Amino acid sequence: MSDIGWPRSRSSALQRARTRLFGQSEIVLTVAGIGAWMLDATSHELWWSDATCHIHGVPPGTEPSIEQAIEFYMPEARAPIAAAVQSAIDHGGEWDLELPLSRLDGTRVWVRACGRAIEQPGGHRLVMGTFEDVTARRQASDEARRELRLRSETETLLRDVIEGIPAAMTVYDREERLVLINNNYKQILPGAATLANKGDTLEDIVRRKVKADHYAPEIRNSQPESVREAWINDYLARHRSSDYSRIFELSNGNFVQVSNARSTSGNIVTIRTDITPIKHAEAELRYLAEHCSLTGLYNRPVLLSALSPASRGHHGSLILFDIDFFKSVNDGLGHGAGDLLLRLIARRLRRLVPSGWTIARLGGDEFAIIAPGLTPATGLVAFLDRLLACQRRPVRLGHARYVPSISIGVAPFAADHTSAPTLLSHADAALYEAKRQGRARHAFYDAELAARIQRRIRLSDQLRIAIARDRLAVALQPQLNLASGKITGLEALARWNENGEWVPPQEFVAIAEDVGLAQSLGLSIIDKALAAHARLRQMGLQTGLIAVNVSTAQLLADDFLESLRQALARHALQPSALEVEITETVLLDRSVVRIAETLDTLRTRGISLSLDDFGTGYASLSHITAFPVDRIKIDKSFTQGISASGERGLIARSIIGLGRGLGLDVVAEGVETESQMSFLKSHGCTAMQGYLLAPPMMPDACEQWLLARA
Ligand code: C2E
Ligand code: CA
Ligand code: CA
Repeated sequence: MSDIGWPRSRSSALQRARTRLFGQSEIVLTVAGIGAWMLDATSHELWWSDATCHIHGVPPGTEPSIEQAIEFYMPEARAPIAAAVQSAIDHGGEWDLELPLSRLDGTRVWVRACGRAIEQPGGHRLVMGTFEDVTARRQASDEARRELRLRSETETLLRDVIEGIPAAMTVYDREERLVLINNNYKQILPGAATLANKGDTLEDIVRRKVKADHYAPEIRNSQPESVREAWINDYLARHRSSDYSRIFELSNGNFVQVSNARSTSGNIVTIRTDITPIKHAEAELRYLAEHCSLTGLYNRPVLLSALSPASRGHHGSLILFDIDFFKSVNDGLGHGAGDLLLRLIARRLRRLVPSGWTIARLGGDEFAIIAPGLTPATGLVAFLDRLLACQRRPVRLGHARYVPSISIGVAPFAADHTSAPTLLSHADAALYEAKRQGRARHAFYDAELAARIQRRIRLSDQLRIAIARDRLAVALQPQLNLASGKITGLEALARWNENGEWVPPQEFVAIAEDVGLAQSLGLSIIDKALAAHARLRQMGLQTGLIAVNVSTAQLLADDFLESLRQALARHALQPSALEVEITETVLLDRSVVRIAETLDTLRTRGISLSLDDFGTGYASLSHITAFPVDRIKIDKSFTQGISASGERGLIARSIIGLGRGLGLDVVAEGVETESQMSFLKSHGCTAMQGYLLAPPMMPDACEQWLLARA
């Protein structure tokens, strides 16, 4: 067509040949969608049928040149088609090619282009051929190829997944036949791989595994048939239920987690994962959480849970012990030695204690044993003796030889609901009692101890109130100078009457120290003592010094010196009127340096110091000389050691000799008889105090007593 600008020179020779060669078949070709063309090899004239024009997207009747026709092909197809046409023009021959073509409107199609040379009578050569649009076929086969590739890719992927997951995988079909088993199955369940073959039924496989003891920790072939059957049925039922997950311990010690799921197509897919490393890590964590790292014994939480009423059994004992003077091992020999001692004690304990009992280290140097079934009737005391004896064997701590000793507290338990913490506190109270009785022994938590503890708790509450409400009293006991026969002092002694009961001072003074009331109790007594003393002085009575007992806790209190100064000022008394009695234990305290400073200050201010209960403690001579003491008091046990004939007063006599030698006054306490008094007098004792002269008296009674003497 003119608008395309192609030549339209219809050669009559070509038209004739067209009619002759195609004739009526041209219409058939057109209907079949096949285009025809013809080329005169000599004139290079080209004829396209209407179908050919249609394939190229040009109007019917278009007649392009060869070059124009070749231009329709995609660039990569032009060389092959040009060569084929040229070869046919030059030498004859034929071609059949599928090539990409760009139609006039730019759309792309695939064509099958066929051609061959035909020799005409007279040596004239024509080249003719057909065009067929094969785009649809090619697309269809492309699709099919892609589909195929995809399917094989999916299969590969699936295979990769099945073989690549670090788990054993099996698939059973609707008939419960094994249809898939992956290679990892052998790795994860080495023993079972030969028992499961494709095509076998689930039930057969499970029976074989049970027979081979594959699930040995759970089910064994040696177990009765009924048990095995029940287990197998349970297994099958679980397997059939659509989804489940459980953990098996296997006969080789490994753990597998089995998870099951029914697929949409009705297959049952089972994944078995080896969780042995997780189980081992879990066990390790549990061990760390439950054990003391130093001794390997259980720790406090484990003990408490084993001691709960539900787990401890009907009868037995909780035995608690600690190492006597453990602190001095740590302080003196170092923490390494302390740790070593703890480990040795733990090792001895492990050897001694029967299996099935629980042993724990509760922290510090405290150990506990739960002894099920062990009661006083079943050898408890014999066991405690063995425990004491085995721990008393000497040990080597570095270069040091050390003989450990322990104190034991025992809380027997019965079929009651006493909670674990309460039992522990009972054993603790018994342990405290064993210590109080002198250590290296055992004590039981019994009704008596319980009552004593109850009393302590009650008294400590009442004492707090009594001090706050100023309900304490002071008794005064005179001291007599043996040479002059004059009263040289009054000792102030604390008195407490609670609901008509006189509580012994030893008891409530100890409680006060335990519960932090020592200072307030002491100041209250000092105030009352000074008040009584001031009054007796005002009456012009001969009293000598006023002596007060002072404990370590008081001496260590920050405000002790200041409080004392204020008390003296309040009653307008000189420091020289006061004497402070301390016991030897004060001098043995760890804070000895601070105590020495306080005592020095007292002395500097003019207050006298006397050493009470001399000879009963562990103080040495060097203590007496190192501290600024004015007097020593012979303990009443030594005074009472002086018999009627005076023979047995050896210690009293020695103390008197010692005191005189050091230039100190000596006061004998607890003098009850004339013979004691004359013994003391004849041996040069300075003063005496005791029932023979006068008992401790309330200030009014003391006043009467002094008046009577005057
Ligand atoms: P202590 O300081 O050795 O007091 C002397 C104890 O001997 C007093 O006991 C006294 O009543 C008793 N006694 C006096 N004469 C005789 C006698 O002829 N024969 C016998 N058998 N005993 C006699 P008390 O009053 O029961 O005091 C006991 C302990 O309580 C005192 O022993 C002292 O250590 C402590 N104490 C008393 N009051 C106080 C205080 O205010 N503060 C402190 N820290 N301790 C005190
Ligand atoms: Ca005293
Ligand atoms: Ca005394």
